[in-house]
Amino acid sequence: MPRKKRAPGRVRRVLGLLITLAIAAFLALLGYGWIRQHPEDTPWAPLDLSQPIGMFTGRKLVALGDDFPRCRKLLDRAGVEYTALAPLREGAQCGYDDAIRFDAGDPRITPFKPARLGTACPVAAALALWQWEVVQPAAERHFRMRVTEIDHLGSYNCRRLYGRSSGDFSQHATANAVDIAGFRLADGKRITLLGDWKKDGAEAAFLRDVRDGACRLFATVLSPDYNAAHRDHLHLDQADRGATGWRACR
Ligand SMILES: [Zn+2]
Repeated sequence: MPRKKRAPGRVRRVLGLLITLAIAAFLALLGYGWIRQHPEDTPWAPLDLSQPIGMFTGRKLVALGDDFPRCRKLLDRAGVEYTALAPLREGAQCGYDDAIRFDAGDPRITPFKPARLGTACPVAAALALWQWEVVQPAAERHFRMRVTEIDHLGSYNCRRLYGRSSGDFSQHATANAVDIAGFRLADGKRITLLGDWKKDGAEAAFLRDVRDGACRLFATVLSPDYNAAHRDHLHLDQADRGATGWRACR
C-alpha cells in the first residue's frame, strides 16, 4: 500500500521535470534562433561585412588588430576589390604591414578623393561598412540622392599627436586612422565639415548622422564638436583600448 501512495508523487515530479525541460528547450531554441538571425549583436559570432551594424560590430572591427589575413578574408567575402600595399617602415614608431587601398572602379566602393587612399585593413573594413550602412542611407534620407565622392585629408603620416615634437604617436603613424573632410553628392553639391557643421538644415544633420554612425564602427571618432583642431574633418581610427572603454566618440 505505501508504494501506491508514493507513485503519484513521483509521477508528478517526473512530469514537472519534463515540463521544465520542455520550457528550457523551447527558450534555448528561441535564443538560438535569435542569435542565428542577429550575429552582429552577439560577441562570439564572427564578423561579416554583409550583416547590418550591431552592438558588437565596432568591437569586432577593432579586434581585427594586426590579423591581416583575417581582415582580408572579410573584404574578400564582401566582394570588395582592393590592393594590398607593400609594407612600410619609418623608424621605430612609424609604418604598416597591413594596409590596403580600394581599387578604382569597384562599384561597391564610393571613391575617395584624392584617389589611392591607403589605410590599415581594419580602418578600410570599417570605411566600407560606413559607406554602405551609414553614409549612403543618410544621403538618401536627407537629400534623396547618393554620395559620389568622399573627400579625405589622408591616412598614413609619421607624426605624434597633433604634430607635437614629443608624446604619443598618432594612429596616423601606422595608417590606422583617416581624416574625412567632406562629401560630394550626385548633383555635384559639396558638403564639408568646415563649412556645414555649424549650419542648420540638412547638411549639418547629414554630417551629424555620419559622425554618429561612425561611432558604431570606429574606436575613435573626433568631430568639430571635440576641438578646434578637428573643425575641418572627422578623425576616424581603430586604436585598440581593450575590451572596456573601447571607444571614444566626440
Ligand atoms: Zn586624424
